[in-house]
Amino acid sequence: MTETLAIGPFSPPEREALTAQFGCTLLAGPGDLARLSEDARAAIRAVAYKGHHPFGAAQMDMLPGLGIVANFGVGYDAIDVAAASERGVKVTNTPDVLNDDVADIAVALLLMTGRRMVQASDWARSGNWAERGEFPLNRKVSGGKAGILGLGRIGREIADRLAAFKMDIHYWARSEKDTPGWTYHDDPVALAEAVDYLIVALVGGPDTAGMVSRQVIRALGPRGILVNISRGSVVDEEALLHALESGVLAGAGLDVFLNEPKINPRFYALDTVTVQPHQGSGTVETRAAMAKLQRDNIAAFLSGGPLLTAVN
Ligand code: NAP
Repeated sequence: MTETLAIGPFSPPEREALTAQFGCTLLAGPGDLARLSEDARAAIRAVAYKGHHPFGAAQMDMLPGLGIVANFGVGYDAIDVAAASERGVKVTNTPDVLNDDVADIAVALLLMTGRRMVQASDWARSGNWAERGEFPLNRKVSGGKAGILGLGRIGREIADRLAAFKMDIHYWARSEKDTPGWTYHDDPVALAEAVDYLIVALVGGPDTAGMVSRQVIRALGPRGILVNISRGSVVDEEALLHALESGVLAGAGLDVFLNEPKINPRFYALDTVTVQPHQGSGTVETRAAMAKLQRDNIAAFLSGGPLLTAVN
């Protein structure tokens, strides 16, 4: 009987690799666990997890022999790590291998929103360029002041890229980092007040929910642009929409939202917003690296070796 279960929307190559390596049983989501027989569930030692549906105590208790939940992704806010630890279940994630791609998307969102690149593309494609002439001037992004909310692995990659754009780098994290030349703020509102662009690279989950609050958005101000590549939960989305609709905030570049993929349609009505479908890590190369790290963690666990990237 198989001892590894793959749960979530794995792509065909990911499924094939998991099946080839572990002879996995595949489930579309945690709701399908109940469809397995009690014997099949009892045999499971490892779960390869993908997706944003919660995987918590109730699901773990359906798998009494579970020893590891290996998440596909660095953000593991869907998994109840406290419940896992209480049950002696290890959780792993896939850090670092996706830093470059997510940082690239953050920078692209900043440039696309600041330089109005989607609208400019439409201007050319629609024939306006030929009929009406030059696209209206937009704003300079290079050389501005950038604030990174959450200077972790991805946040640092974003900051390094923006430093190459001659930007003045400010940041908030729970503690000051060794970052000569960059300015630390001990409060997200103070950070937002100091910068033109605020790029959010925090973890998701209850601790950071709504950290980009109405006050932070107000402090960023009517020339401010917000970029979020972390999780939709980090932003007070109602406050953000209201600020964008009323001109309290200049614009937003967003890869992540509440209620993905059925996001609030008010975003689509705003031409100051650049929308991406949560594709920060979505390249063939990076997804393959994430999938391999997930499998390597499971293989390490099943062979009794040290886990590569343990969370708990
Ligand atoms: P990381 O290295 O752990 O950095 C996370 C940042 O969040 C750090 O600055 C950390 O502060 C802060 N943080 C952690 N726990 C916190 C808490 N309880 N309260 C306040 N701040 C807290 O993570 P990462 O690898 O850079 O990834 C960041 C996030 O990006 C992931 O968790 C995920 O949600 C998101 N992500 C999105 C995509 C996408 O496709 N858009 C792809 C990958 C990841 P300290 O520095 O003080 O520890």
